[in-house]
Amino acid sequence: MKELDLRSDTVTWPTPAMRRAMAAAEVGDDVNGEDPTVNRLEELSAHLTGKAAALFVPSGTFANQCAVLTHCSSGDEVVLAERCHIVQHEAGAAALISRVQLRATSPDSPHLRPEDVAARMRPDGDIHYPKTGLVCVEQATGDGTVVGLKTSAAVKKAAGAAPVHMDGARLFNAAAALGVDASVAARHADSVMFCLSKGLCAPVGSVLCGPADFIEAARRNRKRMGGGMRQAGVLAAAGLVALREERPRLGADHLRAKRLAELLRAVKGVELVREPDINLVFCRLPGLKGTSRRLVAALQAEGIRIYGDEGGVFRFVTHRWVADKDLERFALALKRSL
Ligand SMILES: *Cc1c(COP(=O)(O)O)cnc(C)c1O
Repeated sequence: MKELDLRSDTVTWPTPAMRRAMAAAEVGDDVNGEDPTVNRLEELSAHLTGKAAALFVPSGTFANQCAVLTHCSSGDEVVLAERCHIVQHEAGAAALISRVQLRATSPDSPHLRPEDVAARMRPDGDIHYPKTGLVCVEQATGDGTVVGLKTSAAVKKAAGAAPVHMDGARLFNAAAALGVDASVAARHADSVMFCLSKGLCAPVGSVLCGPADFIEAARRNRKRMGGGMRQAGVLAAAGLVALREERPRLGADHLRAKRLAELLRAVKGVELVREPDINLVFCRLPGLKGTSRRLVAALQAEGIRIYGDEGGVFRFVTHRWVADKDLERFALALKRSL
């Protein structure tokens, strides 16, 4: 039986159209700006996010760290939500690479709250204080929450003169859920990054977008960070297919997540954390007998892969390679193993 992988949308393998585009990609030395496929990907990315320019980078973490390095001077303070990726899942890179101080806030909220930003902006002129160099937001957040446009606007306002960077790893998911273009979802951020390698199915890569002078400086920083890639058009070709063919499909992943939530709600011993906004379904399993590791192994024996819980919460992810019939198969298997 086909393996069903619900661990993440990063497990998505490239589509047949991507493999064809990669094989046929027109390439050049991108460090010299000579790769036409990378240039096309950067142009399309800038256009879709409503920014002046864009930069193709190896990963989402790279894009965020390159943004922090480009926006800030060492010793600056970055205001962001405690639960965000930069604080939790980037291995302390901001301290290592940019030597900034992370001011984590809004611990009880999935997203950065405007009032928490307003309360933490540093006044100019007192030499005791660090300078507020940057405010970082996520859209959607790592727990799958889509942030309302009013909240995004309020955070931008609270940031005042400090730039706002948006970690939009799942920006196109957020835009689809909000029913707006990505440029609207990213409007209240000065820079934004998105991942091609999650629900969009490209094998590698993220794109950092922003004003032309910011991207010019980020290009030098990408080189410093070791992210200058040569015939990267082979990868960018998959990214172009991702944006053209997979982006319009993300809404279908969201519908499957809603359907999965519905099926799981009917299983005794499953407690949904909340209704999914995008392709991420979170639940607790009060009916679980034994450890989460035992459940992972029992499902794996049936060809279904999930991650163990994080603090008692399990995450199941729908994506391109999860079909409608897989949802029922999973709900049944989960029911049997509880
Ligand atoms: C996945 C993710 C990233 C980083 O992406 P990688 O390509 O895995 O480095 C950053 N932010 C958020 C919110 C993510 O979900």
